[in-house]
Amino acid sequence: MIRLADRKDCCGCGACAAVCPHDAIAMVPDGMGFRYPRVDMDRCVDCHLCEDTCSFADSAAEASGCKTALRCAPGPSRTSGSPHPLTWPRVATGFAPTASSAASASDTPVSGESANSRYARPDRASVIAEAIRFPELMDRSQSGGLAFALMRKAVRSGMVVYGAAIDDDFVVRHRRVETEEGLEPLRLSKYVQSECGQSIPRMVLADLKAGRRVLFTGTPCQCVGVGSLCRKYREGLLLADILCHGVPAPFVWRDYLAEQERRHGKKLTRVLFRDPSLGWHEHKEVLFFGDERVVGGEYTDLFYRHLMLRPSCTVCPYASVARVSDLTMADCWGVEKALPGFADDNRGCSLLLCNTPAGEAFSADFPGETVERRAVALEKVMQANFLAPSTPKDGADLFENTYIRRGYSVAERRCRRNAIRIRVRRWARKAGIKL
Ligand SMILES: Cc1cc2nc3c(=O)[nH]c(=O)nc-3n(C[C@H](O)[C@H](O)[C@H](O)COP(=O)(O)OP(=O)(O)OC[C@H]3O[C@@H](n4cnc5c(N)ncnc54)[C@H](O)[C@@H]3O)c2cc1C
Ligand code: SF4
Ligand code: SF4
Ligand code: SF4
Repeated sequence: MIRLADRKDCCGCGACAAVCPHDAIAMVPDGMGFRYPRVDMDRCVDCHLCEDTCSFADSAAEASGCKTALRCAPGPSRTSGSPHPLTWPRVATGFAPTASSAASASDTPVSGESANSRYARPDRASVIAEAIRFPELMDRSQSGGLAFALMRKAVRSGMVVYGAAIDDDFVVRHRRVETEEGLEPLRLSKYVQSECGQSIPRMVLADLKAGRRVLFTGTPCQCVGVGSLCRKYREGLLLADILCHGVPAPFVWRDYLAEQERRHGKKLTRVLFRDPSLGWHEHKEVLFFGDERVVGGEYTDLFYRHLMLRPSCTVCPYASVARVSDLTMADCWGVEKALPGFADDNRGCSLLLCNTPAGEAFSADFPGETVERRAVALEKVMQANFLAPSTPKDGADLFENTYIRRGYSVAERRCRRNAIRIRVRRWARKAGIKL
């Protein structure tokens, strides 16, 4: 059965709970709201299915060597057609590769049984990078509208789509969608861990077993969890992950919103983690109290200071160019320099990585959409989380301990003061001043 030696060993994907035939595992939140498996010993028959389905700890163990190889690798692009340095075992998918991708695909299996091969990885890894934007979708998308275009194409072709939405209680949860109208809440990034529990992976499996084709969008670890559970039905499953900086704590998000309601003396009606109307480069949460619109920044600041990330995010094995999904979606930061004149208007631009022939085939065209796309060398739009996980910060323990004992406001204030103290000390050291 699943035994976690450290909180870092679990990303909370819920695959172990979903696979358990005796419903012996519940995904239970810790003090920050991050969910972890808890085994009911009275129900468990020690069949090891849960361990066999969990890919996270194994992936973490083998990640360092893998990432070292990739750090030295040049970023391949559609134009260069250069193969990815890693090759993975071939697994058939129901999404036909195009002629060009079939020609460049490698059939060479990885030698030996790697721990990660328990998860049915995509059939090869020749990364194609593109800067892509959908001008008509960008006003209600985080970067270039890529996620919505992919999801809409999927629904229009009869697939079931899974993605993260903000529910009425402002909790972010994954949901299942079959209609175009249903896709609207899945738009925009929600910078908090989205709840999947065991039910979402099980629903994906049920859809695949029923012969439906599925597009699952989420963090790489959620994609791995679902892929691992559904490995026997991989041909019907298309995985699209986001480049992931790490996920903040759900309870901190909840308490931040409650604090804002208290400060403003009003009920929240809507929230945006980043508001496209502020411009693509602006990262601030925006809160709506009826007609009143408040631009915040406190929550985003805690996120980027890495004070409330899930512990597994600081050792994330998927922070790599060797993607675990068929497609990867990211902000195409640096596009202004990489492709001058292509997306200089601060409205947004997505980065699309086609990691498998299935991903390439699916994203080859977007019928009915206005699309602007250009091949881009990955190294020109490289981001830190393609190379390494987000670094843990000194203040994170202080924040968590204070948050759990004293609540959100005290933790936020204490960490803000701490950050100012650290900055002043650094400045004084540089200036040669003894404090
Ligand atoms: C926690 C988090 C961290 C991110 N870190 C980076 C980063 O470091 N660099 C970078 O370039 N991009 C990052 N992104 C991705 C980026 O914000 C955009 O989502 C991406 O560029 C796609 O933009 P879009 O305009 O195509 O679609 P959008 O409309 O923004 O994307 C919506 C899609 O993202 C999925 N999604 C939204 N929130 C979540 C969530 N909490 N958990 C799982 N899936 C979610 C939805 O299911 C949907 O498919 C991150 C996203 C999240 C949620
Ligand atoms: S060992 Fe088997 S029965 Fe026990 S929790 Fe894991 S999957 Fe369930
Ligand atoms: S399968 Fe997912 S939720 Fe279960 S222990 Fe592994 S990482 Fe955690
Ligand atoms: S960084 Fe993202 S993919 Fe990695 S463990 Fe955290 S949530 Fe999962």
